[in-house]
Formats: sequence, C-alpha cells, structure tokens
Amino acid sequence: AISNNNHHALLLASPGMGHIIPALELAKRLVTHKIISKLTFFCGSIKTSTPSKAETQILQSAIKENLFDLIQLPPIDLTIHVSPRDTLETKIAIIMHEIPLLFVSTISSMNLNPTMIITDFFFSQVIPLAKNLNLPTFAFAPTNAWLVALGLHTPTLDKEIEGEYINESKPISIPGCKSIHPLDMFGMLRDRTQRIYHEYVGACEGAALADGIFVNTFHELEPKTLEALGSGHIITKVPVYPVGPIVRDQRSPNGSNEGKIGDVFGWLDKQEEESVVYVSLGSGYTMSFEEIKEMALGLELSGKKFVWSVRPPATKSGTDNYLTAGEEGETRTILGSNNEPSNSFPDEFYRIQTNGIVITDWAPQLDILKHPSFGGFVSHCGWNSLMESVSCGVPIIGLPLYAEQMMNAAMLMEEVGNAIRVEVSPSTNMVGREELSKAIRKIMDKDDKEGCVMRERAKELKHIAERAWFHDGPSYLALSKITHSNRV
Ligand code: UDP
Repeated sequence: AISNNNHHALLLASPGMGHIIPALELAKRLVTHKIISKLTFFCGSIKTSTPSKAETQILQSAIKENLFDLIQLPPIDLTIHVSPRDTLETKIAIIMHEIPLLFVSTISSMNLNPTMIITDFFFSQVIPLAKNLNLPTFAFAPTNAWLVALGLHTPTLDKEIEGEYINESKPISIPGCKSIHPLDMFGMLRDRTQRIYHEYVGACEGAALADGIFVNTFHELEPKTLEALGSGHIITKVPVYPVGPIVRDQRSPNGSNEGKIGDVFGWLDKQEEESVVYVSLGSGYTMSFEEIKEMALGLELSGKKFVWSVRPPATKSGTDNYLTAGEEGETRTILGSNNEPSNSFPDEFYRIQTNGIVITDWAPQLDILKHPSFGGFVSHCGWNSLMESVSCGVPIIGLPLYAEQMMNAAMLMEEVGNAIRVEVSPSTNMVGREELSKAIRKIMDKDDKEGCVMRERAKELKHIAERAWFHDGPSYLALSKITHSNRV
C-alpha cells in the first residue's frame, strides 16, 4: 500500500458551475486535510464557447491558492457533432461522450504518475475507459445519494420498464429507497429516445465499476437511501461514501462587484434576524420577462424583505445558459440557443426594490446565506444551493425547474422536513404570485406552526452539518477512505 503522502489523484470535473464549484472544493479538502499529497484537476471546455467570467474567476482563484495543478483539456469542437438547432441535452450528451475519451487519452500521454482517478459521476464512462491504467477509480457525485441510487438502478429499470418512465402509472421504485413520482423523474431519463438518455445509462454502468462513489450528502439527510446503498447487495456492490456537505468555505468570486456586494451586507446588517428571504434560481436558468414579473409580484405580496439574485430576462426562459452562465448582461447564446436576452426588466421588478435588494451579477451566495437576517431561501433546488442552505440553517421554499431538482424538492419536503415545495401552475407553466407568497409566509411567519417545525429542522441540520467536517467527523473519515481501497 502507498502511504497517504505519496498519493497523486487526477480529478476530472464536469463543466457547469454546479459541478465545478463542488469539485474544486473536494480537491481542496483532499489536499488541505492531507488525505492525499498531490492532486491534478482537469476540466473540459468547448471550442466555440467562452467560459463565463464566474467560471474563469473561480478557476483562477483556485490556481492562486496553489494547492493543486489545473489542466484544461483540449476544447471540444461541438460543431463537428451537432447543428445549432440541436437541443442543449444533445450537446451535453456529446460532452458526456467526448470528455471521458479526451481525458483518458490525455492522461495516458502525460507523465503524471497518478495513483488514483476521481471523476465526476456524469463522466463515469472514464472508469471502463481507464481500465488499462490499472488505477483505483472513484466517482464523485455532486448530488444526493437518492440520485446515485437511481443511477445505479437505471440499467435494471432500462431492462424492466418498456415505455417512458414519466408515463408510468405508479411511482418508480428503487430497492430500499423512496420511490420516484414519474413526473419528478431526473431530466436525463425523461425521454428514452434521446442520446442523453443512453449516455447517462453508460455513465451509470461505468460508475457501477468504480472502487467507490463519494456523494455530497450526509447521513441525517438520507439515512434510508444510504443504508440501501451500503447494504452491499440491494442496489450496488460499490461502496458509497457520504462526504457532504461539500460547500465552498470562502468568498465566491465577484470581481468588480465587490463594492455593490458590500452594500448588500450593509443593508442586511440593518434587518431583523430571520426576516429576509433570499431568492435565486441557480447558475444555469434564465427567467423570462413574465416569470420575473410574477416572481416580483409574489415577493411583494409576501410582504417580506428580500435579496434576489437574478439576471436580465430572456425572451424564452430556460436552461440554455447552463454551460456559460454567470455574469451580468452577458449574451448567453454561445451554444447557439434561441434564448435571446431582452435586457429590460418589468416595471414590477423596479417597484419592489424599496423592500429589498437585487443582484444582477454573480452573487456570493454562500456568504450571503450565512447572514443571520435570512429566514428562507426561494431556490430552484439545485443540490449545491440546497447544501449551502442546509449548512446555513435556512429553510427552503422549493421551486424546482429541471434536471434532478424535482427529486431534490420531493426528498427535502417529504423526508428531510426543512422545505416546502411550490407547484408550477399547469396553465401558465409558472409559479403563481399567490402560491409563492403563501409558501414564503408559511416558512417565515413566526406564528405558523408547520413553518416553525421546518425552521427548527433547518437549524438542527445546520448543527449536524457543521460536525460532518470536524476533524474525525463522519464526512472527513468517509473521504479518507479514498486511500484505503483494496487496490490502492
Ligand atoms: N451561485 C453563486 N452565485 C450566483 C449563482 C449561483 O454563488 O449568482 C452558486 C451557488 O452558490 C451554487 C452554484 O452556484 O454553489 C449553483 O449550483 P446549484 O447546484 O445550486 O444549481 P445549478 O446552478 O447547477 O442549477
């Protein structure tokens, strides 16, 4: 066996801020906690697309810390594989196929002498591809254990269920775990005719060959799922280790925005404890003009003070910015989407600013959420946002939109108990102002009994989360197992 001090891990991250942020943090913890001595961080890029300012800044600040080397893989030329009219999902499918190949050929041609490979779960096709290198190989899932359980069970579902999962009449069951409501199904598995479906099944088959899977969750959040995964036979033989919460513990990059952010904290300092709601739908989603208007009216109706991180509206809401998100006024049409920015906010958006603050740049979300003035987080239920909210003890008003966000919202509301989920109205395809304001008030009004239970639960989770990464805390110990694999 190799002693910890001689381990050199190669870590492959996936593009997208929701993947890069936790992957960088994982890398940092592996090195600063001296679990391994050396790490080389790889990330992919796309030829025709400029990385967002936020992504560039976060990678640059990681380089400055000098904890590990960072290697950009040669950019992928998507134009060879897709036409501009192809969907974002098809583009992501190509990326999921090409980056593992590129990564394995790049590391094979370099003289790095690694002792292990860690890949983002989405790129788990790396695991069979890197077999000849004869190295222990791990997957890191910057999501929850329930999604990992679904992933590992997907090859079975693929054989057992014939039609589309979303058309099933009964919840989709995963052995030992909470079942999935068909309409909450993970985005990549919603249409089995799409290439992304097959790439994802391929990634899951790859992950099933890993020496271990590390997940950004902790026991208190998912006891039942972790037990099912850990039992060694029901779903998988691969050891699954909860290592969360992995959230960034330093100021997020916001560059020239520094002064304006200072004003936000100045304003927050003047507010009462737990009286402000934070609103953000993540790094990848752009709201339409109508959605912004409805949300502004919902915030107004709630009567609560707010901090709202939002970028200028697009003529068509959606996730086409997923791979390029992150800065003010940026034209986010790089992947050839039809998601044109219109740049003018509705009047309601300006009107409500007497009662809150809007941030149209990249917001330092974790630092903001730490402020004691926050009593609720209106979130799209991206897993990183949820883990940040949990770490700060803030209950969640969930507005899930795509990917695995519906599953995340269902889990928090039905199993964890720190969240309320707001349903989208089928007629407008939006969350209505009434529903939003009612949910905000339920979570934040001091005399709401159900809200009180959720607030207490959020605080309880914060204390448990804090201990996970103490020295000898469960998540630290679980990540340390990376050097204990039979093959290491
Ligand atoms: N984030 C941020 N500032 C912003 C928007 C997002 O710091 O203005 C961070 C947020 O704190 C989280 C990540 O970006 O760490 C978003 O990841 P998540 O999984 O919540 O959602 P996604 O963006 O992948 O949909």
